[in-house]
Amino acid sequence: MIPIQRIMLAVVSGIAGLAALYLIRSPGSLPHEKALQLGAVTLLIAATLFATLWDTLRLARPAPAAADIDGNVPLPETSVDPVQGEVSKLLSLLRQHAVANENFSSVLERAKEELHESLRTEQVRIIISYLMIENDNMKARTSNLQASLETSQHQIEKLKTNLATAQAQGLSDPLTGLKNRRGLDVVLASQLAGARNAAQPLSLILADIDHFKSINDRYGHPAGDDVLKWFAKVLSSNVKGRDTVARYGGEEFAIVMPATPLDSAAKVAAQIKAQLEAQFWQKPGAPNTLLRVTASFGVAELAGSEGTSALLARADGKLYEAKQAGRNRVAA
Ligand code: GH3
Ligand code: MG
Ligand code: MG
Repeated sequence: MIPIQRIMLAVVSGIAGLAALYLIRSPGSLPHEKALQLGAVTLLIAATLFATLWDTLRLARPAPAAADIDGNVPLPETSVDPVQGEVSKLLSLLRQHAVANENFSSVLERAKEELHESLRTEQVRIIISYLMIENDNMKARTSNLQASLETSQHQIEKLKTNLATAQAQGLSDPLTGLKNRRGLDVVLASQLAGARNAAQPLSLILADIDHFKSINDRYGHPAGDDVLKWFAKVLSSNVKGRDTVARYGGEEFAIVMPATPLDSAAKVAAQIKAQLEAQFWQKPGAPNTLLRVTASFGVAELAGSEGTSALLARADGKLYEAKQAGRNRVAA
């Protein structure tokens, strides 16, 4: 029922109730008991209609923003992220449902009180039909709430998937599919903490392709990209599952090796160097264009209480040494 009909019904019922009560006081008009019962029923209807009308108007108004313990009022929904927006929408729906439920209970409570009195069949029928209307309203509210909850749940699932995809994309390199610099920072920080906790060694290899600029110049930038992808595969095929290969920068790569001391990491670097020397990169679409690609390697093991930047700087220092010593070599 829409509010205007409720208002009219409530006003008419109220007037009828008052008229019935007035009749009790006018001697000789109606039998006293009948007038009393009529008055009670019409007043009950007026009261419940006013109550539901009040709820309707209250629910239509947006709930005022609640202040937190520090007295800060939260920002409007437009300024929060989508997940937070969905969650506050859900909370507001649940709040509305709780209020509606409370009102429904109080309607039932009032009806129970009235039914204690001895009423005629007709009066009981009126009260029951009113309760049925309220029950239908409640059922409609519940199914609306259920539909809204399902929509919100789907929305949240979608947002979670999008967020996970965006996070994964933000940490990986689209060309090689390896972790990018940010991904490396995340892995290195967590592996470093793990190594410290377990009192285990942790080594880092930095690998830089030799004279890569001249490869680009000679075969073109797309061919250079292909060399990077090929090089990434060579590195990945030489490490164990627990190790992480990342693209550190342009033609510079890193390998994080947990539970690995310096000499073992240096051996892995030497093995990669040997494998590069033993094979050729083949230009896509040009089977006769073969190129021997070499790289220089700097290796360092986590020492003392140093952090990730210090470890990276020491491996970079070693890489510089390998370049200075003539390239295509390992410095550890
Ligand atoms: P060095 O032996 O001293 O390492 O010499 P280099 O030529 O390998 O190193 P340099 O730093 O002089 O040049 C690196 C080049 O890598 C320059 C840059 O254009 C190229 N480069 C960086 N990122 C990419 C990329 O994503 N794709 C391609 N094709 N080239 C890239
Ligand atoms: Mg280089
Ligand atoms: Mg470089």
